[in-house]
Amino acid sequence: MANTLKNWIAGEWVEALGEGTETVVNPANGEVLAHVPLSSREDVDRAVAAAEAAFKEWSRTPVPKRARILFKYQQLLVENWEELARLVTLENGKSYAEAHGEVLRGIECVEFAAGAPSLMMGKQLPDIATNLESGMYRYPIGVVGGITPFNFPMMVPCWMFPLAIACGNAFVLKPSERTPLLANRLAELFHEAGLPAGVLNLVHGARDVVNGILEHPGIRAISFVGSQPVAEYVYKTGAAHGKRVQALAGAKNHSIVLPDADLDLAIKEIVSAAFGSAGERCMACAVVVAVGGIGDELVRRLREAADKLNIGDGSKPGVFLGPVIRDSHKARTVGYIESGEREGAELVRDGRQDEAARGEGYFVGPTIFDRVGTDMAIWRDEIFAPVLSVMRADTLEAAIDIANASELANGACLFTASGSSVRQFRETIDAGMLGINLGVPAPMAFFPFSGFKKSFYGDLHANGGDGVEFYTRKKMVTARW
Ligand code: NAD
Repeated sequence: MANTLKNWIAGEWVEALGEGTETVVNPANGEVLAHVPLSSREDVDRAVAAAEAAFKEWSRTPVPKRARILFKYQQLLVENWEELARLVTLENGKSYAEAHGEVLRGIECVEFAAGAPSLMMGKQLPDIATNLESGMYRYPIGVVGGITPFNFPMMVPCWMFPLAIACGNAFVLKPSERTPLLANRLAELFHEAGLPAGVLNLVHGARDVVNGILEHPGIRAISFVGSQPVAEYVYKTGAAHGKRVQALAGAKNHSIVLPDADLDLAIKEIVSAAFGSAGERCMACAVVVAVGGIGDELVRRLREAADKLNIGDGSKPGVFLGPVIRDSHKARTVGYIESGEREGAELVRDGRQDEAARGEGYFVGPTIFDRVGTDMAIWRDEIFAPVLSVMRADTLEAAIDIANASELANGACLFTASGSSVRQFRETIDAGMLGINLGVPAPMAFFPFSGFKKSFYGDLHANGGDGVEFYTRKKMVTARW
C-alpha cells in the first residue's frame, strides 16, 4: 500500500489539513509510489507561522555558523547521492545518468550558498563628504515561498531554498505534486545537517497551496519555476500582494547550425539536448535551424542518431530516453505530432511507432519534423517532450530572425567555427543563455539563470549574485561621529 505523504512543518512530519490527494506514479510503468496530499491554505498558514517563528533566531544566527550547516548539508547530499539520483529517476523517469548529473547541479547550489559570509558582505565609503561616511549592510528579508516544477525535482528546489536560507531567511517550499518524494529527502537531510526546526518547511499540494503562498501576508518574496501561463499568473498575483517575485517560465530553445560547423559534434549535442530527459528540460533544444545547404545532411544524420537511442525505464543501465511524466502529457505530445502532420511539416521520425511507445509507461520515442514553419503550433508552443523541429534558413541573420520571433527566450545555441559569426549571434540574439558549440547552455549555480521575454517574469534571476540580491535587502547607514 502506497502511503500518503505528510507536510514538513517546524521540523516534524505533519498530516495535511486539506482534503483530497493525488497519486504519485512511476512514469516508466504507472506503478503507484505514494499519494500526495492536496494541502489547504490552513496548511500554508501553519508553515508560515513556523517559518516566522524560526526566522527570528535564524536571521540573527552568525553567518559563518549558518554556512557551517550548509557545509554539513553538502556533505550529506554527497553521501546520499545515489539514493537521491534513484529517487529522481523513480518519480520523474529520466535516466539514472541524467538524475546523477541533476543531483550534482543541486549540490553545486548548496556549495555556492555555503559562501554566505562573502555573499552577505556590504560596502562602505569612508568619505562621502567631510567627516561623513556611508555604508551598506545586507540583511535577509523574512519568509520566502518557493514553487517548483516536476522536471528537476532536485536541482530547481536547490536553486531556491539553500541560498535563501544561507542568507538568513526562512522558507516554505511547495514541490511539484507530480514529483514530491525527493523534496522530502532534501528536507530530512537538511534537518540532519543541523538546520533548526521551522527554517525550511514543505507544504505538498497544488493550486490552493500556490494561492495560499501568493496571498499570505507573512511571505515577503516568491521564487517560482514552471510553465509560462502559471509563471505569469504567479508574477502578477504575487506582485499585487506586495511581494518580490522571480518567476522562471517555459522555453522554446533554438539551435542554429552553420555550414562551417563540426557536424559530428553538432549532431551529438543536439540529439542529447533534444531527447535527453525526454525533452522535459527548460534548456532542451526544441528547434534546429540549418543554415545554407546543410539541411538534408543534418536531418539524415539526426534521424540516424535518434534511431540508435536506447528507450526504456531510466533505472535500467544504458537507457538514454525515459518516459514523459504522465499519460496526459503523452497524449498532449501525440496531439502535437498530429498537428505537425496536419499543418504540413515533414515527419522524418515518428516516436509514436517505437516499440516502447506502444507498451506500458508513458513513452514517446524521438520525433523529428523537417520543414517546419513559424506559422505552425509545433514551432510556436513549448511541447516539452522528445519532439524536434528542423527549419531552414539562407543566412545566419535569417536564422536569428526565426529564433527572435519566438516569444519564449530562455536559451539559444550556435554551432560554428567562425568567431565573427559567434559575435554576430551574441550581439543580435534575443535570448538570455547562449551556447557556442554545445547543446544545453545552462549556467552553473554561481551565475544567474537568465531567461528573457516570456521565459522569465521579474527582475533578479535565480542563482548567482542575482539570487543573493533577491533574497536580501539592504540598509544604508550615513554617519557623522
Ligand atoms: P507547471 O506550471 O504545471 O507547474 C509548476 C508549479 O506550479 C507546480 O508546483 C504546480 O503545482 C503549480 N501549478 C500548476 N498549475 C497551477 C495553477 N493553475 N495555479 C497555481 N499553481 C499551479 O509546470 P511543470 O509542468 O511542473 O514544469 C514544466 C514547465 O516548467 C515547463 O514549461 C518548463 O519549461 C518550465 N521550467 C522552466 C525553467 C526555467 O528555468 N525557466 C526550469 C524548469 C522548468
